[in-house]
Amino acid sequence: MSRNHVVLPGATIGVLGSGQLGRMFAIAARRMGYRVHTFSPEQDTPTGQVADVELVGSYDDLDAIRGFAAQVSVVTFEFENVPAATAEAAASRAPVRPDGSVLHTTQQRIREKSFLARNGFPHVPYREVRTMDELRQAIGELGCPAVLKSAAFGYDGKGQCRIDALAGAEAAWQTVGSSECVLEAFVDFEREISVVAARGADGEFAHYLPSWNSHSRHILDVSSAPAGIPDKVARDAAGIARALMETLEVTGVLCTEFFVTREGGLLINELAPRPHNSGHLTIDSCITSQFEQQLRTVCGLPLGSTEMLRPAAMANLLGDLWEGGEPDWPAACAAGNVKLHLYGKLEPRPGRKRAPRTARPATADEARRRGSATRKALTARAAAGNPARGARGRGH
Ligand code: AMP
Repeated sequence: MSRNHVVLPGATIGVLGSGQLGRMFAIAARRMGYRVHTFSPEQDTPTGQVADVELVGSYDDLDAIRGFAAQVSVVTFEFENVPAATAEAAASRAPVRPDGSVLHTTQQRIREKSFLARNGFPHVPYREVRTMDELRQAIGELGCPAVLKSAAFGYDGKGQCRIDALAGAEAAWQTVGSSECVLEAFVDFEREISVVAARGADGEFAHYLPSWNSHSRHILDVSSAPAGIPDKVARDAAGIARALMETLEVTGVLCTEFFVTREGGLLINELAPRPHNSGHLTIDSCITSQFEQQLRTVCGLPLGSTEMLRPAAMANLLGDLWEGGEPDWPAACAAGNVKLHLYGKLEPRPGRKRAPRTARPATADEARRRGSATRKALTARAAAGNPARGARGRGH
């Protein structure tokens, strides 16, 4: 397939990975008449529940990966920790978008940060750390507080530890438990934002308004857009997102997470070469969702409008919500302009994302309040034990 070859509706798209991002991608793809095959080590997954075909296998089984890719017109992925060899095996049978090299750069913190530094992108000051001695030296150079992050396979704050004084270095090293880390200076940010953007195979570019993201226990809690930042900061963030995608030669969707400093500067926190949790609000509030945009880029179609129809906020529902029983979904649906999205995960685990909720009142601040308040009501009901509780299982 040439760079600009178009994969038309009716064709089959392969998704490596089977979580919620693949599910929402599959919904967008099926709505536009595509078929979807998904491949992952698990069964009856969020993506598998809506895909045409769910293949179960190990990412290391390269023959199985080649077999999967041979059945589809193009392959994409829904999380960036697909091993490079897997992406390569898939690429021997079908185009993979974004290219495996984008995965390679963004799935490991040292590679990602050195890419940013090498190309002059604004990033959080950091040091590479591979031994306790290097950690002590890095703390000496960057000072405290600092954040130690495992280089590999981290998300939602996993494999991270804040260090407040040199005396805490040893414990942090044990906690992160990894031979390769980065130590980052702690940023006293004004707020965190992210920009979700898309780039077609022909270089066409489109971005959404930045979202303002707040975290709880390192996990994204609430996102809202517009982000309430000066226009110049929003424009700068979009410009950086574009330059990143051009430098990485991404065909697909990329989310750039930023810290906005108290002086109005931007520092890149991290990159995700796919749709992002902070972009879920585009489903209910923008002309084209981030998932349809991913579909369009992967298939070589023109990008859709990213225009936001109304301000919106998204509040994540975590597995903890299920601790007191099944939440009272009818009550949640009674809040007229709050939309419920559930991922279809079978086992709720504390701290595991199971669903985002999107609220779309007239302003982003009101949307944040509405989304959080409805979630709070759900939590209270679940904790009190909900008489309407049903059996837990498929389809939640
Ligand atoms: P990450 O998984 O690296 O995005 O980290 C998760 C969250 O931890 C971020 O969204 C921030 O809220 C916080 N965090 C991570 N790194 C730093 C840092 N260098 N300074 C301040 N807060 C941080």
